[in-house]
Amino acid sequence: RSMLSQVVGGAKRPALSSAAFFSRGMQTVTLIPGDGIGPEISSAVMKIFEAAKAPIRWEERNVTAIKGPGGRWMIPPDAKESMDRNKIGLKGPLKTPIAAGHPSMNLLLRKTFDLYANVRPCISIEGYKTPYTNVDLVTIRENTEGEYSGIEHVIVEGVVQSIKLITEDASRRIAEYAFEYARNNQRSSVTAVHKANIMRMSDGLFLRKCREVAEGYKDIKFTEMYLDTVCLNMVQDPTQFDVLVMPNLYGDILSDLCAGLIGGLGVTPSGNIGANGVAIFESVHGTAPDIAGLDMANPTALLLSAVMMLRHMGLHDYGNKIQTACFDTIRDKKVLTKDLGGNSKCSEFTADICRRI
Ligand code: NAD
Repeated sequence: RSMLSQVVGGAKRPALSSAAFFSRGMQTVTLIPGDGIGPEISSAVMKIFEAAKAPIRWEERNVTAIKGPGGRWMIPPDAKESMDRNKIGLKGPLKTPIAAGHPSMNLLLRKTFDLYANVRPCISIEGYKTPYTNVDLVTIRENTEGEYSGIEHVIVEGVVQSIKLITEDASRRIAEYAFEYARNNQRSSVTAVHKANIMRMSDGLFLRKCREVAEGYKDIKFTEMYLDTVCLNMVQDPTQFDVLVMPNLYGDILSDLCAGLIGGLGVTPSGNIGANGVAIFESVHGTAPDIAGLDMANPTALLLSAVMMLRHMGLHDYGNKIQTACFDTIRDKKVLTKDLGGNSKCSEFTADICRRI
């Protein structure tokens, strides 16, 4: 696979055949700028898309926590309506209060749109010095259950319980997604990451479903590995991995570790794929409150997420054009944001990418 043909995440074709869904011409995408640095990096992406003449019309929606009927937390109806209609969204980071207040809006978005697959390509950026230079893997995380099912209660004072929920249907669905993704993106192997030696019933079920699904994909090599072994092997030689599929919590942690291998969260894109043609692409970093409003943020992660989005929509040429310009700016090293080792502002970095398109 050549660097360019991989697309961020390797998609020459969309991961699942959604391209047919989109007609040619201008397409409307719901843009959720988010909090903190979200509006700055969203504006950078919009400028770069404009320079590339990408046929995308943005429909901006704020996502703040509101209480609906019965006091349940929900996303604002106008944001839901926009996503239901457009199917595709690009999202900046959203802040979450710690331990009290409204629940994570990211979780709420996942639940609302049944975004069951979190896809994170981790590919080394040529010319950008990181601990490894040839990482090329994709983590696929089950996004709806596991320890993040939100089932928690106090048993007696001083003792709480959080339930890890694993279902046959969700395990099969994510395994099928991983194998389809591998096949559609010219990737050769899928590794199921688990702890079925300890979590015998829950991870055991997840693993059994992965094995069953693997039977239908003889063209893709299937391996299984304990999470701890993956961590050890990953930091010793990440090149041995291709596509990795895993339950929710493991994916949350391992995908950040993988992001570290290619230079951190500021350059790592992601996509959340849903059951009904809905997909939301987002940068994986947070709201970076320490630099919000200072024109210091690196927009690369959101931009590469937007590139994944273009590919998902079948707009490969625009995706390639934007990705090349972004990588050229980084390789050139003259105009880099602080987190990338430079002294330039977000707006200068953005302008340099626009100039190259
Ligand atoms: P963070 O990712 O916001 O920040 C960690 C560090 O990385 C900070 O020093 C920040 O300045 C830096 N950083 C992050 N993104 C950057 C970028 N694009 N360019 C340059 N530097 C960047 O993590 P945090 O401080 O733990 O979280 C802050 C808030 O973000 C919290 O409310 C948290 O809940 C939320 N959060 C949201 C998401 C999401 O919406 N997907 C993900 C993680 C955290």
